[in-house]
Amino acid sequence: MEIQRSAPEGGGKTGRANQHDTIERSRQILAILSALYPDPRPHLNFSSPWELLVATVLSAQCTDARVNQITPALFRHLPSVRDFARAGQEEVEGLIRSTGFYRNKARHLISAARRIVDAYQGEVPRSMRELVTLAGVARKSANVVLCGAFGLDEGMAVDTHVARISARLGLVAFGLSAQRIEQELCVLFPRAEWGRLNHRLVSFGREVCSARKPRCPDCPLLGCCPRIGVARPGL
Ligand code: SF4
Repeated sequence: MEIQRSAPEGGGKTGRANQHDTIERSRQILAILSALYPDPRPHLNFSSPWELLVATVLSAQCTDARVNQITPALFRHLPSVRDFARAGQEEVEGLIRSTGFYRNKARHLISAARRIVDAYQGEVPRSMRELVTLAGVARKSANVVLCGAFGLDEGMAVDTHVARISARLGLVAFGLSAQRIEQELCVLFPRAEWGRLNHRLVSFGREVCSARKPRCPDCPLLGCCPRIGVARPGL
């Protein structure tokens, strides 16, 4: 069966010299990563779309592990979006301080909660167009929420792991914007894989292809990886 490939809004193409080779390699990469991570899941803990949105906002410039440490107490204290909408700035700051940038994050969470209550009857909206109108929610976070909470693959969340690994693998050029990387990866990979591919690449980036010490000799992708930029730390 022919797999349908498409690009998120804004179009996109690989821009690589030999697109056929790149598509073929992307198939191999997907097959290997799928075997390596057969059951990929979000790395942030949540029990509702609002909790995932909160965790995603908190994860900016912070590790998922740290966010997962503080969210149980946060959601015990403020169990619903309406509780966040009514909360005070200092109250939220005190609960999220260890995630860094806590003043901005608290302001964004309260503002997003108020808009969800006022404009969406307390329900997190289910479209990219609506999600990016919420304070603190850009395209990457919206993709995380759409895929993780609703199972919707409207695009692919591009974080540092996805950007670094896809460039090392020669799927995209180094230095592209996150939106451009997303457009190019969404052309290369089937839509049904977009969300799960993000989870797989994050796990793979942590365990094998890390920023500082990629484990190339042990890497299951070594045979299809040109290792672009690996010898130049900081790329
Ligand atoms: S071979 Fe090296 S650079 Fe390529 S994906 Fe594996 S760890 Fe990363």
